[in-house]
Amino acid sequence: MAKGTRPASSLPQLKPRRKESRSLKRKREEEELQTLEKTAQEFDASNISQFSELPISRATTTGLDKSHFKILTDIQRKAIPLALKGRDILGAAKTGSGKTLAFLVPVLEILYRRKWTQEDGLGALIISPTRELAIQIFEVLRKVGQRHSFSAGLVIGGKNLQDERERLGRMNILVCTPGRMKQHLEQNPDLDTYSLQVLVLDEADRILDMGFKDAIDAIVQGIPKNRQTLLFSATQTKNVNDLARLSLKDPEYVSVHESASSATPGKLQQHYIITPLPEKLDILWSFIRANVKSKILVFLSSTKQVRFVYETFRQMQPGIPLLHLHGKQKQTARLDITANFSGSKNSCLFATDVVARGLDFPAVDWVIQVDCPEDVDTYIHRVGRTARYERDGRAVLFLCPTEEKGMLEKLKVKKVPIEKINVRQNKKQSIQKQLQGICFKEPEIKYLGQKAFTSYARSVYIQKDKDIFDLEKLPLQDFATSLGLPGAPRVKFMKGEDAKQRKNAPRALLKDDDSSDGRGSDGEEEDQATKKEEKKKKEVRTKYDRMFERQNQNIFTPHFTEMVRHGDGSGDEGKDEDFLAVKGHGYGSDAEDVDGEKTSARYIQVHGKEPLLVDSKRREKLATTKKAMLKYKGKGTKLIFDDEGEAHAIYELEDEEAFVKAGDAEAQRGKFLAEETKRVSAADEEDKTVAKEKRRAKKERQKARALEDIEDDGSDFDGGVPLVPYQDYGEDSAPELVEEGRPAKKQKKWFEDDSEEERKKEKESKRKRKTKVVQMDEAPETLEDLEALAAGLLA
Ligand code: ADP
Ligand code: MG
Repeated sequence: MAKGTRPASSLPQLKPRRKESRSLKRKREEEELQTLEKTAQEFDASNISQFSELPISRATTTGLDKSHFKILTDIQRKAIPLALKGRDILGAAKTGSGKTLAFLVPVLEILYRRKWTQEDGLGALIISPTRELAIQIFEVLRKVGQRHSFSAGLVIGGKNLQDERERLGRMNILVCTPGRMKQHLEQNPDLDTYSLQVLVLDEADRILDMGFKDAIDAIVQGIPKNRQTLLFSATQTKNVNDLARLSLKDPEYVSVHESASSATPGKLQQHYIITPLPEKLDILWSFIRANVKSKILVFLSSTKQVRFVYETFRQMQPGIPLLHLHGKQKQTARLDITANFSGSKNSCLFATDVVARGLDFPAVDWVIQVDCPEDVDTYIHRVGRTARYERDGRAVLFLCPTEEKGMLEKLKVKKVPIEKINVRQNKKQSIQKQLQGICFKEPEIKYLGQKAFTSYARSVYIQKDKDIFDLEKLPLQDFATSLGLPGAPRVKFMKGEDAKQRKNAPRALLKDDDSSDGRGSDGEEEDQATKKEEKKKKEVRTKYDRMFERQNQNIFTPHFTEMVRHGDGSGDEGKDEDFLAVKGHGYGSDAEDVDGEKTSARYIQVHGKEPLLVDSKRREKLATTKKAMLKYKGKGTKLIFDDEGEAHAIYELEDEEAFVKAGDAEAQRGKFLAEETKRVSAADEEDKTVAKEKRRAKKERQKARALEDIEDDGSDFDGGVPLVPYQDYGEDSAPELVEEGRPAKKQKKWFEDDSEEERKKEKESKRKRKTKVVQMDEAPETLEDLEALAAGLLA
């Protein structure tokens, strides 16, 4: 029992004061929350312009203020009040119009109003299609949520699953990519989503497309239906099926720019140029050379192209720092490059669509789309990397003559204002010779060029919009020459592939088509890694496979094998009877040599399985272990005993009529299997539910305990000078004595109680003390040595 350090006489006065202040404080907080809730429900947002006018907590207002956010953007003004009323939201607003805060502020407020604590577990889940965007959202969350006490984490893969796993169970808010989140939900028992309050999908239309279907369905399945859902994107989905998948409740469609004359930011100047495919790189090079003092973002359609252009241009030194980013890079490299490009004043980043959505690179001057985007939505997101939040920006789209008509029509339908410009011929510089030189000198680059060529051809081939993408009309031979290649590499297309399906399944595409990995590779490499591993696993043969195939272990082996095969023991069997003999579990007695003769190396036949050759000590040992041999043992046969106790095969005792009546044996087997599978999976499901329930109950208990602790230890003296805890000593206890005797310890005990962490540490160090290892450098010689050792051991 903790005991106070103050004289007993002063203690009784503290009790009522503390209790009073605590209950007053709690009451005040309760009232504050109720007022917030009430104001939010009745709030009229029509005339407000600042964050400070919103019915939100002081913590959030301060966080916003400290991050220099004062004036609301349109989407924030409309969406935040509705979300605070508890509505599901479909938010649509142009790129760079502040959608991130439109969902982060409600997330913080909803959890705040529900007094979310660490014991409550996961309260909000924010899903982003790429790792980079998830990191960016997380950073904004950290800034505006700095005054809240929620715990928040990032779940984006690229890190050790185990490392992430331990921390996740304690998080209130998670920002994640779909694949990694699914992986955790499947494998991490500590992660519970049963009390989730808010689900957010940033870039919702992208997340809801086919590429993420499995992951999203798995995530949605595990979270409560009555949570609030917020979907945001510049190109919002209104597809009923998509929305049904998320079981939205009467969602409010908040679109602030629907009636606007353009779907893109007002301060964005958009142009296109018509260029034959073989001249694209010349124009790109000339453009970069002419704009070395700018910050340029260049989109290409695949990883291989990004790498080829980056590697070759780098060698040609355009006079501006070059960077490249795609989904096949390591996570650390991706982070470095994103940070590098964000921080630079003038540089040129070659990228795939992995950076097309959501990323807020500051002050990008130009967005160049060298390869035509797959659709207008992708176009809108790509150009949206510039002209963000009241800044201006410029975008240029390169179109092949065959793409012009189709693409322009579609851009017009979606209200994208774009004008044609021409390239000044005198400014255009041909780099074909230089590329040829590089490819000639460096076979790796030539190889990369070939890959770039095939991946481009494939990316055109798999596009679903055939009004725009027509591979047959493209001058592929000249394109290959323009890349510096000696000829056009042969491109294999998968026959019978449904182009639309392939288009919609980026990860499936990645699996069998390595070269067109740009589109849709996004942040989901973790899934690829898993798949690769699985594939690898399947390819791995067992050691028994290898054993049977092994031929040249040493020069005796062929002879030895021959000897075994033909049972030619050369009269040595008797002598070597014990050599390599199988002992142990009776397999030896079960086992028969192939020819019924005994040999020193021998086959063991176990219940009709493939014979196991025992010709080395290792295999000898293997044959003595029951567990290892189980694999060889098969499943056994079911027997039925008759009245005399004799065993019979299962059908022997059945009369023929009944046997025939029961139908085809194979069908019966199938039926039995199906039933058993169902039974087992039902049992599995039940086990999982029970385990989850247990965890939930445990969490509830922990929470209750934590609340009790708060009540007991008065840890609500936040900020102020902590008072000495009151202890109601009995008549016969003598505080003075205790105080004199062990004051330091009493003090410590009190602070220990304050924090679970401290307690753990203390326990840990106690454990360490207990298991202390006493090291002796030399054997004890003198009595003092011995004494010292004994003292060490006792301590
Ligand atoms: P979106 O998600 O709509 O593309 P973001 O949320 O990424 O846009 O915001 C774009 C930029 O605008 C960011 O740099 C962000 O800091 C800034 N921004 C957002 N809201 C505000 C605001 N209310 N006041 C000032 N800047 C803002
Ligand atoms: Mg965004």
